[in-house]
Amino acid sequence: QTVSSLSEAIAQHARDGGDRPALIQGDVILTYAGLDALMNRVVAALQRDGLSVGDRVALLGEPSVEYAAAFVSVVRAGMTPVPLAPSVTDETLKAMLVDANPRLVFSDASQSARLDGFEIVTLDGSAGGRAWLDWLAPEGAAPVVEPIDPATAFNIIYSSGTTGVPKGIIHSHRMREGQMGALSALFSGEVVTLLTTPLYSNTTLVTLLPTLRAGGAVVVMRKFDTKSFLELSQKHAITHTMLVPVQYQRLMAEPAFDDFDLSSFQLKLCTSAPFSVELKSEVLRRWPGGLLEIFGMTEGGGICFLPAHLFPEKLHTVGMPAPGSDIRIINDDGVEQPVGETGEIVSHSAQMMIGYNNRPEATEAGRWTDPEGRAFIRTGDLGRFDAEGFLQIVGRKKDMIISGGFNIYPIDLEIQIDAHPEVLEAAVIGVPDAKWGETPVAYVVRQPGATIEAEALRVWANERLGSLQRVSAITFVDELPRNGLGKVLKTALAEMAAA
Ligand code: ATP
Ligand code: MG
Repeated sequence: QTVSSLSEAIAQHARDGGDRPALIQGDVILTYAGLDALMNRVVAALQRDGLSVGDRVALLGEPSVEYAAAFVSVVRAGMTPVPLAPSVTDETLKAMLVDANPRLVFSDASQSARLDGFEIVTLDGSAGGRAWLDWLAPEGAAPVVEPIDPATAFNIIYSSGTTGVPKGIIHSHRMREGQMGALSALFSGEVVTLLTTPLYSNTTLVTLLPTLRAGGAVVVMRKFDTKSFLELSQKHAITHTMLVPVQYQRLMAEPAFDDFDLSSFQLKLCTSAPFSVELKSEVLRRWPGGLLEIFGMTEGGGICFLPAHLFPEKLHTVGMPAPGSDIRIINDDGVEQPVGETGEIVSHSAQMMIGYNNRPEATEAGRWTDPEGRAFIRTGDLGRFDAEGFLQIVGRKKDMIISGGFNIYPIDLEIQIDAHPEVLEAAVIGVPDAKWGETPVAYVVRQPGATIEAEALRVWANERLGSLQRVSAITFVDELPRNGLGKVLKTALAEMAAA
């Protein structure tokens, strides 16, 4: 039994020099003293409402100071925050709510109509529930909090649903402690972190939590756009940020990018989707400073790190295993593969989830056990190690196309199509084919002003691809379907192809 070190760290920052900013959004600045006092008011209100240790509390809304404060307050109370994505369909939201079974939901007023039957506290108004400011316990509340069992749930995060129905991933306090500890060397000193991604994602917590633990300031962006990102970066002298690849892509395409002074940045992070060599090189060239790519998954934490600024010749990889993570490559029979062979990436580390909520079979199916009996997470990603120990991702196992008995990795085709000067980006999926079983088709976004025709592009790409890797059709689209974290939704492309 321990006290949550995050909660304790925030209390400590409040005690020594409590007027340092903790959370900033627009003109709102919440200091550490203010955050600590607010957290106590939330904890006291939760206890007053009859919630107890271990109860789940959902959050549904766009990033805000109140949202971030509510999240860490729930942790302080020994309860489990369950942040949910407002962008999902009503049906998916309902499934997540039934699965999570929260006692209370902190919600944006605009979302409250979707929460019929639940106790609601609206973070930004009163429509449909009790309003945050009325609901809070009085100022000066000093609730008693019980020590926490490190093996219990710190939070539940739903997977992105990129490959299927979102699954509730339970992280323990021990996992989060380990993760914050591992990142503490990178988040130390005068940290000012800009949050650019939604708060329901693990990607965002990876920078939010270590910043608060270190006593740094977190600048919250309600909705990402390139201009605001650049303005906020300069205004607050941002030192740390996490962006997903499509955000880097948009920033590189922003005409005003070079007009801003971004020299305050110490470390830019990136995770969650393939980050092309081309884009990494451009970011390194035009935006000097540290660029850390993380390969990981909600189930298993960050398992590979590539400090891209230090390894310019390794940009086609996601780097080397993080300290304490043991990564193996296995084949379809679960047999470990030698260096250089491609197979499913499995990982064992201190950052593994407890399991999926209410899904023991899925938890079991997602495990691989090594000959010594240690449990590894099956990542569902395919990759191979090079001779120097750098991991190259080949794609998701579910996305692999088997055509005429040969394995085709969409990423190889995507890289080739992307290489055409008139192409902005491409996504390749397999569609059923009478002759080959499956055959690759591409969805392509052209550069503005491009004139190339689909058939000419297909011929151009196929001339450069191996004879076993041929694109059988190209369809131009205005944009690729993506989820709230910028991941390309291949399931949506498959639906388009089938329609
Ligand atoms: P679901 O499991 O519901 O289908 P998801 O796998 O997209 O959704 P996350 O846990 O958010 O949900 O994402 C982890 C996945 O993101 C990894 O398995 C991998 O496919 C991809 N990914 C993460 N980091 C990188 C990276 N640096 N390069 C390439 N792919 C990455
Ligand atoms: Mg996944």
